Amino acid sequence: MTEVVPEVLISEEKIRKRIGELAARISTDYADVDDLIMVGILKGSFIFLADLSRAVTIPRSVDFMALSTYGASESTETDGAVRMIMDLRRNITGKHVLVVEDIVDTGHTLSYLLRNLAARQPASLKTCVLVEKPERREVFTQIDYLGFSIPDVWVVGCGLDWAERFRTLPFIGVVHPGR
Ligand code: 5GP
Repeated sequence: MTEVVPEVLISEEKIRKRIGELAARISTDYADVDDLIMVGILKGSFIFLADLSRAVTIPRSVDFMALSTYGASESTETDGAVRMIMDLRRNITGKHVLVVEDIVDTGHTLSYLLRNLAARQPASLKTCVLVEKPERREVFTQIDYLGFSIPDVWVVGCGLDWAERFRTLPFIGVVHPGR
């Protein structure tokens, strides 16, 4: 079996700089908010949420949800079905909520999540996404703060995995499992 080695797509330095820019915009936009709830979607967003939540300068707290994904493989096939595995600890009614996601691909996961959270009547609901693949979009999803747009490739690192590998890489890399 040949060793899979991710190729750098977005460097650690570029990611750090971009997260700083996003955090500055978020801090300005929510300057009057006294408790922004930053909601990370497990597992993929744990590193992005950790970096982003430490870089914003406004009062904030973090909470987590977990949703089912396509499965623990590199498959990109989905029927768009999304299921919640773990819900938030906090009640978000009347609160300002920022969903922090690692990746938007077809858009089904984020659109499900936004419908689910909107039903709880938060004061505001926005999204911050590290990477998106515009070519793969199947449903419209609202992305308020975006790190990077990427082509249709399988990316790993910064929380993103390939069959549970490579999540803790400090850069965003591309894997070509077939090679
Ligand atoms: P959706 O298609 O609903 O927008 O995204 C579903 C999920 O697919 C994402 O949350 C993520 O877990 C996974 N996914 C899609 N593209 C990639 C990718 O390039 N790399 C990794 N690691 N996960 C991906």
